Amino acid sequence: MAQYDGSEIRRDYRTGFFSIIVPGRSQRPHELEEDRGAQDLSKCPFEPQNIEENLKIMHVGEPWEIMTIKNKFPELNGETPLDKKSGFLSSISGYGYNEVVIESPDHNLKLEDMDIKHLDKWLGVLIEREEQLYSRNYIKYVQIFRNFGADAGASIGHPHTQIMAWPIMIGNIKRRAKITSSYRLKKGSCIYEDAIKIEEPRRLYENGSFSSFAPFASRMTAESIIIPKRHVSSLIELSQKEREDLLDEFKRIISINKAIFGGHSYNILFYELKKNEDFHMHFEIYPRLSTLAGVELGQNVFVNTIEPEKYSQDFRARLESV
Ligand SMILES: [Zn+2]
Ligand SMILES: [Zn+2]
Repeated sequence: MAQYDGSEIRRDYRTGFFSIIVPGRSQRPHELEEDRGAQDLSKCPFEPQNIEENLKIMHVGEPWEIMTIKNKFPELNGETPLDKKSGFLSSISGYGYNEVVIESPDHNLKLEDMDIKHLDKWLGVLIEREEQLYSRNYIKYVQIFRNFGADAGASIGHPHTQIMAWPIMIGNIKRRAKITSSYRLKKGSCIYEDAIKIEEPRRLYENGSFSSFAPFASRMTAESIIIPKRHVSSLIELSQKEREDLLDEFKRIISINKAIFGGHSYNILFYELKKNEDFHMHFEIYPRLSTLAGVELGQNVFVNTIEPEKYSQDFRARLESV
């Protein structure tokens, strides 16, 4: 039986990992399954005429070009902030916010085909929502991610990005912040700036303000990381030129991956922290070319069947031919 109103974040006493228990989420729509056959847009909840009025938060353009709504099926829907239980069965109420940024009224528009001007508005919306969510009580971390395709966990085919505002900083971001700080303490430098130099043999693409590469120990096949050359910890610190260079990276990586692997699902993950001197913002793109199986689940060790060196070589060959 649930201990709080709504969802709860539970910590596993065996591993220290966390899960969110979300009652009722299995009832959400699965429009993507239908997307694979004949497309029936009347069922898409992100079509302009289908968006429920009470979910709308803000939009850009008239008629709207980008629309932000509340997620109708939020993972974080707790009503009791800071309510926690410690001990063997430790947990905290899943208090927080889930928002969806619908990137275009056009169901079939792909991120790689959006122009930089439109994508810059999208980035502007993400920054604005993030600032808004950070200003609310009890919010410790705002996460941005984009799932594209059923194999990446997207249940709706219409292009969208998700924002989750968490009541505690846990998981990957906490681990990365900790490693970045301890590296600086030990070596006196920034681990991500050092990575840009050391990962040179696996470089994908470099422009004026960003560098991307296939990480040495990539977990996913054709995984990439995008790092700003300047030491910044969050999106809001980027100049206009840097914003455009980041979007250039996203577009190039996604379209070249598509050229190499054909149409596929992928996730874009944003790793940023507000007002953190040590942290160096970065982004990852994970093509979902294989499913997680026994080794991954049993050992939390990932099997990657294409050497990052080979992937980066193939990638650069495509880059030159563009
Ligand atoms: Zn749609
Ligand atoms: Zn740095």
